[in-house]
Amino acid sequence: MVCGVVCLKYWLKLSFDIRKVLIMDTAERTVAYFSMEIGLDEGMPTYSGGLGILAGDTIRSAADMKLPMLAVTLLYRKGYFRQRLDAEGRQREEDQRWVVEDFVEEADAAVSVTIEGRTVHLRAWRYDVTGAGGFVVPVYLLDSDVEGNSDFDRTLTHHLYGGDRYYRFCQEVILGMGGVRMLRALGYGDIEKYHMNEGHASLLTMELLDEQVAVSSGDEVTQEVIDAVREQCVFTTHTPVAAGHDKFQMDMVRRVLGDHEAFEMQNVFCCDGELNMTYLALNLSHYVNGVAKKHGEVSRHMFTSYAIDSITNGVHAATWVAKAFQDLFDKHIPGWREDNFSLRYALSIPSQELWEAHSACKKELIDYVNEHTGSGLDEDVLTLGFARRATGYKRADLLFGDLERLRDIAEDVGSIQIIYAGKAHPADQEGKELIERIYSAKRMLAPEIKIAYLENYDFGLGKLLTSGVDVWMNTPLPPMEASGTSGMKAAMNGVVSLSILDGWWIEGCIEGVTGWSIGEPPTDPVQPDNRKEDAESLYSKLQYLVVPVFYNDRNRFINMMLHAIALNGSFFNTQRMMQQYVVKAYFE
Ligand SMILES: *Cc1c(COP(=O)(O)O)cnc(C)c1O
Repeated sequence: MVCGVVCLKYWLKLSFDIRKVLIMDTAERTVAYFSMEIGLDEGMPTYSGGLGILAGDTIRSAADMKLPMLAVTLLYRKGYFRQRLDAEGRQREEDQRWVVEDFVEEADAAVSVTIEGRTVHLRAWRYDVTGAGGFVVPVYLLDSDVEGNSDFDRTLTHHLYGGDRYYRFCQEVILGMGGVRMLRALGYGDIEKYHMNEGHASLLTMELLDEQVAVSSGDEVTQEVIDAVREQCVFTTHTPVAAGHDKFQMDMVRRVLGDHEAFEMQNVFCCDGELNMTYLALNLSHYVNGVAKKHGEVSRHMFTSYAIDSITNGVHAATWVAKAFQDLFDKHIPGWREDNFSLRYALSIPSQELWEAHSACKKELIDYVNEHTGSGLDEDVLTLGFARRATGYKRADLLFGDLERLRDIAEDVGSIQIIYAGKAHPADQEGKELIERIYSAKRMLAPEIKIAYLENYDFGLGKLLTSGVDVWMNTPLPPMEASGTSGMKAAMNGVVSLSILDGWWIEGCIEGVTGWSIGEPPTDPVQPDNRKEDAESLYSKLQYLVVPVFYNDRNRFINMMLHAIALNGSFFNTQRMMQQYVVKAYFE
């Protein structure tokens, strides 16, 4: 009898919950986030770097904030690539196979896209991102590896950033057009905003144009149709150089998609002879933003006839704060996960406790490095960290312009050790040579300065590195760093930055308080490469500030660490970022 009542109550509650979930899953989802890569889980190689990690953090914060969002990306059965480095630092690439069924569940829907006249069937896998309060944002990962597709078409969702231009364009057709169709097949009928995270997803606008033409029961792309699509689209650009924007030859576009009226429309497709994914998104979005204030400015300079705002990136606090700091924050700033602004109260954390938490993180990192590389790093030595994609403009070797100078600083002022990590894109020869140059500097600086290069920079290593070093270093050529987010992860863990004034650091750097700058603040949107001056500035900062403060004025160093958390951790997070997207872009 008692059981009867309890069971009935349970059943009522369960059926109510299921109903609520179902309702939320379809009609109430109003924002669809499209990204070529998303870093969802340490075990899923569905991202390559900053863009994907940002997408993951965006979704994690959306779930915390119970935003009615869902997301779309591709599945990548073979991942990006696993990096192997030999003794000389030469990079070898391997597939990153993973057991799809261990992480995602097949969704009950099928759609197709037409590629060069072929029907390419698609299915979707669902991954649930659960927020701090239990709210779920579903992510759909599109998969063309299905029965009935040609052998080639089955490979289209295998590799992230693999293959040639044709392969990439087919992927973008699947993401943009296939993605919108998949949402319809899954029953999402009330989406009001489509957020394109970078231009890779721009073809979703083509699908929306076709839908809108059908709705207005005409057969033409009228201005009214264009306006209706613009009202639905939001575009975030991430690339501060013209050459970095995704483009495709128009003859290939026509071959793949067939002809379309919009191809001839200057106010939609814009450019003769090629499809520029950035212009397509710019033309069809009512809200466009860059990812830091400076990047907004640079983008307005590049695309002069468009209104481009900026929303500075952030990171997901609960994801990037290391265990020792989570415990510290739980003790002194309860509720910090739900309210990242409260990290401002970090200033009241006792110095001794902060240093203990930092030392625990540092020990974990140094143990890992020594175990994996045999570098013999020392826990008491000032440790600099540098991890990012190995590519020319990031200037990972800026520190090695004058090895004698560096050796003198380490000998006369205080010891230094440096930990590097980063993958070069398989086609980036210059990036690969950069890794080899770091290996050769490592040989030349031994034994006075120890350098370790960690293989296969990824999600987990990113967390270990940004929380475990003493100083996070960044030396890009301005204005190429649209935002950068690893320095924000460091700040959340009380790790100060020593960085070029570019991207987010222009906003986050308070000299001597949250870290140190390298070089002069940028004045023009386009900067010359001041490599020599920047290197000189880097050496001076190390010699006169960073090394002496670390060894001789530990209290001041710890005070800076607290300010990094209070001033930068409390602001450069995706919770603040998503609030800005809500106000400015989604529900404006
Ligand atoms: C955070 C992160 C990035 C992006 O950091 P940047 O500062 O933009 O270089 C790239 N890769 C991994 C693995 C990360 O964790």
